[in-house]
Amino acid sequence: MLEEDTSPGRHDTIIAACDVHRYAALGCRDYHDNCTDNLHAALGQLGLRAPDCPAPLNLWMNIPVGPDGKIVWGEPLSKPGNYVTLRAVMDCIVVMSTCPQDMIPINGAACLPTEVHYRLLD
Ligand SMILES: [Zn+2]
Repeated sequence: MLEEDTSPGRHDTIIAACDVHRYAALGCRDYHDNCTDNLHAALGQLGLRAPDCPAPLNLWMNIPVGPDGKIVWGEPLSKPGNYVTLRAVMDCIVVMSTCPQDMIPINGAACLPTEVHYRLLD
């Protein structure tokens, strides 16, 4: 449950987690770190395995849908220091991946992945 959001509130639930196929489609010929592999690596450290990569909540990812129904891969509207507070209302495993996308500007005009910090509250 999203309890607090200090950003302009633009997040995405349309775009699937990035994977090796997306980077290959963008022209990447070598392996590129990606959120799908990050998920599987994190779960593997817990001795768990997901059969598929679930649909992510892409915090701060700006994917507006135009009047023609087409999506745009926009730059984030959030600023450094923005944060969200999420509340788990049931036991769950949360995996966070700082998207390593550096080929299109979804992490900002400089196309540099941006670090994210988290902490667990009571
Ligand atoms: Zn990603």
